[in-house]
Amino acid sequence: MEEVIPGIFLIKEKSGFERIKPSENIYVIAGPDGLIFDAGFGNKKMVKFLIKEINKIEQMYRDKKEDFKITRILVSHGHPDHFAGLIKIRESLGVKIALTEKTAEIIKNKKSFMKSFNADSYEDYLIIQKGFRYRIRSFLQKILTHLFFKRLYGLSFVTDPDEIIKDNTEISINGENWRIFHSPGHAIDHISLYNEEKGILFSGDNILNSMTTWLGPPNCSVEDYIESVETIQNLPNLKIILAAHGNIINNPRERSIEILKHRKERTQNLLDIIEAYPEKGISPNDIIRELYPNGKKIRFEMVRGWVCLTIKMLEKENLIKRIEEKKEIKFYPINN
Ligand SMILES: [Zn+2]
Repeated sequence: MEEVIPGIFLIKEKSGFERIKPSENIYVIAGPDGLIFDAGFGNKKMVKFLIKEINKIEQMYRDKKEDFKITRILVSHGHPDHFAGLIKIRESLGVKIALTEKTAEIIKNKKSFMKSFNADSYEDYLIIQKGFRYRIRSFLQKILTHLFFKRLYGLSFVTDPDEIIKDNTEISINGENWRIFHSPGHAIDHISLYNEEKGILFSGDNILNSMTTWLGPPNCSVEDYIESVETIQNLPNLKIILAAHGNIINNPRERSIEILKHRKERTQNLLDIIEAYPEKGISPNDIIRELYPNGKKIRFEMVRGWVCLTIKMLEKENLIKRIEEKKEIKFYPINN
């Protein structure tokens, strides 16, 4: 636990499997009416660690003879590393779970959650795979995805949140005014939490210090993501970003510009590849192979998401077209 800004504490939940499950940052805004931002993992050991760290903060406040009470927990979005711990944390600390309507809808049960993770939409979009074998494969994939999150993330769903808040609203934390605003792109329900007077932003997964934010169907959008990063870049008085993974960001504007530049470059790379095949077209898998010539198969699965979303965006912008051929989908440039 570390007091990163006076009154704001960072608790890092180390995952131990960085590649498939990055460590998670949980923040405590301490005071008489405090708030926990993001719930982290729900595995017993992780929650126990978190509670121990929060107790240490409480002791510090008691030693200083200052009031300390955490009243609420709020999550940035309905991804497992952000909400899995909610129920156990509520049980241990007696805090109220505050969710936006969109997040509450996603994390209310297994069916709803799996729908938000269901890869069918883009698998259908990128590969022609119909029939019995495909249905079996996608059925197994769903079971495995759920098991993966349940075991590795200690998933539990929230059927009864204590408070439903708006996507765009103001809340008081320890008597200070904080603004919540909808920032979709990485997730359809993503929110950010901002204190303009102090210039502090909790950015969830939208702005990370050294990692690229994951994007993939069905709940992400490159267009929305760019818009959200632009909104963050233009926040008045923004001084510091407290991200959900990795280090704190002390140069928020530069980092936002860098992220936007990266997205623009990747979009151009993809378009250049498709434009190199005006006659015979190129399949999504070959696009990925050209984008990551030295990539391993596992990496292809990780990047498939943004490639698919960017293809969709270029199609919408009328820069490329999609043609279903015998056993494959291919993309062709449109020369306007
Ligand atoms: Zn996420």
